[in-house]
Amino acid sequence: MRYISTRGQAPALNFEEVVLTGLAEDGGLYVPEELPQFSHDELEAMAGLPYTEVAFRVMKPFVGDEIDDATFRRLIEETYGTFKHAAVTPLNQLDHNHWLLELFHGPTLAFKDVALQLLGRLLDHFLARRGEKGVIMGATSGDTGSAAIEGCRHCDNLDIFILHPHNRVSPVQRRQMTTVLAENVHNIAIEGNFDDAQAIVKGSFADQAFLRGTRLIAVNSINWARIMAQIVYYVAAGVALGAPHREVSFTVPSANFGNLFAGYMARRMGLPVKQFVIATNANDILHRTLTENDFSKRELQATLAPSMDIVVSSNFERLLFEAYGRNSTAVREVLERFQREPAALADAPLAELRRLFASHRVDDDTILEVIREAFGATGELLDPHTAIGYRAAQRARSDDTTPMITLATAHPAKFEEAVVRAGFEGAPLPEAMQDLMAREERYDVLPAELAAVQRFVAEHRH
Ligand SMILES: *Cc1c(COP(=O)(O)O)cnc(C)c1O
Repeated sequence: MRYISTRGQAPALNFEEVVLTGLAEDGGLYVPEELPQFSHDELEAMAGLPYTEVAFRVMKPFVGDEIDDATFRRLIEETYGTFKHAAVTPLNQLDHNHWLLELFHGPTLAFKDVALQLLGRLLDHFLARRGEKGVIMGATSGDTGSAAIEGCRHCDNLDIFILHPHNRVSPVQRRQMTTVLAENVHNIAIEGNFDDAQAIVKGSFADQAFLRGTRLIAVNSINWARIMAQIVYYVAAGVALGAPHREVSFTVPSANFGNLFAGYMARRMGLPVKQFVIATNANDILHRTLTENDFSKRELQATLAPSMDIVVSSNFERLLFEAYGRNSTAVREVLERFQREPAALADAPLAELRRLFASHRVDDDTILEVIREAFGATGELLDPHTAIGYRAAQRARSDDTTPMITLATAHPAKFEEAVVRAGFEGAPLPEAMQDLMAREERYDVLPAELAAVQRFVAEHRH
């Protein structure tokens, strides 16, 4: 399988290179040159299989023969062995035709584990084979950092440095990162805000001399392997509810659009999906683009669903590439305009998107209302991100007869503030994490200065 850039000016890469690379050198995102197709019979045959077997069948065409089958199966088994539910991503029926797809049974209780548990193992495998070491750097305001750390803690060939803003992440989120005491895991609390931390990471990618030749790796949501791993649960859920014999629909709490784009890939590969509902919080660029053709940046708003607080939706570029008929010149133009000023999509691609996607925006007051309402109606305590999806599914679904699958992206214990403000006492942490608040922590506090952080990284990697 070969991968090409959405902006058309970077070299095509194979799977191994695309996993190690992240962003394309022309500023674009990598996508498969051709999508694998699953026939009716192949989809039918996936119903009832263990998650890991579906994962192997769905991902194998993207990997090709770059990893032998036995090794790839072992990586998949190890990856999903870290999940606490035997079904890995179980479906939970809410009413006669609305389902929650629970993506939060991994080590850090959010859907990002599904992809990052695999990505860490893929990176380690490729680096070992090349006889190289790698350094991961990332900035986090919460979820991604802990999921990346959990995904890399057992990797022999990787050091991971995660920067978080000092005293500005929730205690649960901080402890999910800082209580991992592995030697290759380095938590840095930056004396500044999230933007300061992110600027230091960007600065480090821009000038990597401080690493003296060691590869610097990004694990943010534009890495193709993350999308690939997420396609699996759309297929698994779809066939569990009757595909390919009938259509299903999905509602996805969305921010960078990596999760939903994986669903779109599943559909392009043959899964019969009738509708996708994009659910946003007040940071509603996706909703505005789809409903008003207002493709523009707005100031960041802090909401009760902080993992969806974004200004730019990075993976949306991959969808635009498809909507524009893979015309990379047109994609480059619209994205370059968007960087400078408010932009709009051309008529044909917008119409194309509106045929398949609906959207709905949910504000903070409504999140609290939905948490109460859903608990009363179903007995389920939703986390604030999932609550956004729940409401969007109710408001924007096109019909009642197609099964609606809402993606539950986090466990409520992870976002206690919203749960408590909705009037509940809180949500207990799952058993395996009950002692989280008592575990030993380790992190270093550094000033928000590029040179200081780079010196720290250079001195502490193995
Ligand atoms: C990251 C995240 C999202 C948003 O997913 P995208 O792929 O960025 O659209 C939603 N909910 C939770 C809990 C998350 O951690």
